[in-house]
Amino acid sequence: MSNPTSRTVGFKAGERNIFFHILTACNLSCRHCYINASQHGEQTLSRQTIESWLRLFADPARKSNLVFLGGEPTLHPELSQCITAAKKLNYAVTVDSNGYLFHDFLERISPEELDYLSFSLDGPDASVNDPIRGKGVFDVCLGNMKKAVAAGFQVSVIYTVSKANIDHLHRMVPLLTEIGVKRFFIQVIGLRGESAVSAQKSGDERQETPQVSRDKWLEVVPEVAEMGARAGLHVTYPKVFLDKGEPFECAGEVAENYFIFPNGRVYQCPLCEDYALHTYTIEDGELIPRKGLTEKMLFPLKIEEGCVMNRLLQPDTIEYDDSGRPVARISCCLLKKEIY
Ligand code: SF4
Ligand code: SF4
Repeated sequence: MSNPTSRTVGFKAGERNIFFHILTACNLSCRHCYINASQHGEQTLSRQTIESWLRLFADPARKSNLVFLGGEPTLHPELSQCITAAKKLNYAVTVDSNGYLFHDFLERISPEELDYLSFSLDGPDASVNDPIRGKGVFDVCLGNMKKAVAAGFQVSVIYTVSKANIDHLHRMVPLLTEIGVKRFFIQVIGLRGESAVSAQKSGDERQETPQVSRDKWLEVVPEVAEMGARAGLHVTYPKVFLDKGEPFECAGEVAENYFIFPNGRVYQCPLCEDYALHTYTIEDGELIPRKGLTEKMLFPLKIEEGCVMNRLLQPDTIEYDDSGRPVARISCCLLKKEIY
């Protein structure tokens, strides 16, 4: 068997990614949920509003990837119609679901209309997944993944790595290949939302943070990714730590990523989403650049640690040597490695 191809996925020139949170409601309450209703809104956008906002970001001349997110996006009763509308605007469409697939989702959309159906699973069995995502979630999610594969959908899985599940990551590979999953996205847990709250409550962030250490990440994740690629999966994981001499780039400066929330906030950096630093707001159906302090002012700042927002929000993730210099720079959280 030939060696898998591995490459760092930069921010491809001309590519656009639109992450559209159409609601924030959810049937689950995962430990690491990043949804923050006070910053993101509590409303469910109407189908008419979703379609009008989709037109704001549509650019049929360029490849535009659209991800429908929530909360749980299948809680939206008209999600299938929104997907059809998005395809007419030439978006490549993914739905990120927690696996519950409400409103008979699989019966209301065809595999031809949806480019990817993505499931979130944080463990290879219920004993690992359910303490993180909720009792009974593993069985429901796995059952619906199997149904989706059998119905002909392209299925991917997102696994959010934390101290609670990193030692079980390798067991995902046989599970996913057996089911017929095509793509495997390994994510790194961020100290935001619920994970930040639990770390603060502990009073000792360094001891209780759910994030894994640099050594542990480097010891486990690249090897499991390679194992997945050898087994036939297309694996994507965040670069996190830049190699010596590797250039640092902020996606906010060189790429087009839009993170849209139901309250009309539009961010370009996911790490800024808990603060009123958004670049645009959607008001009366128009995309309006904001004045005053926004995330855009932070993107050009050059620091030894790499990503400015990571330095501000998660300083504990940075290790320093005896001379006080960072051991490794932290990459943009949107910089990925792909192996397949
Ligand atoms: S499924 Fe997603 S939105 Fe729902 S609680 Fe879990 S992380 Fe949050
Ligand atoms: S994560 Fe850091 S590097 Fe990436 S867009 Fe945000 S501020 Fe820029």
